[in-house]
Amino acid sequence: MNAAIPLPLAEPQSVAQRKKREADKLAKRLRHQVGKAIADFGMIEDGDKVMVCLSGGKDSYAMLDVLLQLQKKAPVNFSITAVNLDQKQPDFPEHVLPEYLRSIGVDFHIIEQDTYSVVSRVIPEGKTMCSLCSRLRRGALYTYAEDHGYTKIALGHHRDDLVNTFFLNLFFHAKLSGMPPKLLSDDGKHVVIRPLAYVREADIEAYAEAKQFPIIPCNLCGSQENLQRAQVKKMLAQWEKDTPGRVETMSRALGDIRPSQLSDPNLFDFLSLGKRGDAALPDAHAWLASGETHATDTDDAA
Ligand code: SF4
Repeated sequence: MNAAIPLPLAEPQSVAQRKKREADKLAKRLRHQVGKAIADFGMIEDGDKVMVCLSGGKDSYAMLDVLLQLQKKAPVNFSITAVNLDQKQPDFPEHVLPEYLRSIGVDFHIIEQDTYSVVSRVIPEGKTMCSLCSRLRRGALYTYAEDHGYTKIALGHHRDDLVNTFFLNLFFHAKLSGMPPKLLSDDGKHVVIRPLAYVREADIEAYAEAKQFPIIPCNLCGSQENLQRAQVKKMLAQWEKDTPGRVETMSRALGDIRPSQLSDPNLFDFLSLGKRGDAALPDAHAWLASGETHATDTDDAA
């Protein structure tokens, strides 16, 4: 009887192969999540001129990269222009973005506006400059979009930014509101879209690493993140550590809102709920006045 011939052992998969497989899976997930966000919120339609705001951070690089991939197979035609605002921060490496954008062959424009001097003049030393800085940046980008007829402005905020902003508003501004995936600017002139609304920050970090984007840090100006935002980030990171998946759950909750289970009479008509007759309901003043009468009666009795 022939001795059994041992089967050749499967070649150990090389680290490079494994990394490539993981990177491909991640890229596919990002395309899927961005495509889903675009479809769910009607972010891009036929003929759109999309201005992709590029800061040089990992988020905006990832957004541009994924949008360019989706554009090739999209069911509609739209154009993409990457726009960066050079705010004249000290040591800003001006050559990095143009070199990268030329290398990938995308249409781009760099706006030069010295918002850094304004911010550092107005904000006292030691205070966080980010709020004013972002406002000025937004103003410059919106103006450029209007002057050049862009129909959509794409920003690189991701799922974790959306959840952070929700808690920031809840804890520090007493309101249930966040950062929507699509919005109309206050002046009604711009439609802002956030195609990364479903994408985890950790995935963007891994994607940026795999793609070797030439990241430019935002805080070249030396400003630190606002304390409240940092607190919320720390809290969410701890929650996620204690209960993995919690941020995803909260992110899903932002898309499943039940006004009748909250307490805002402007969102849900509690006044008409279960009302038995057509007579107008007494308003708050009438109820408050009746409460005061009782209080006085009690006081008198005492
Ligand atoms: S870190 Fe500096 S450049 Fe970035 S948003 Fe804040 S103030 Fe502006």
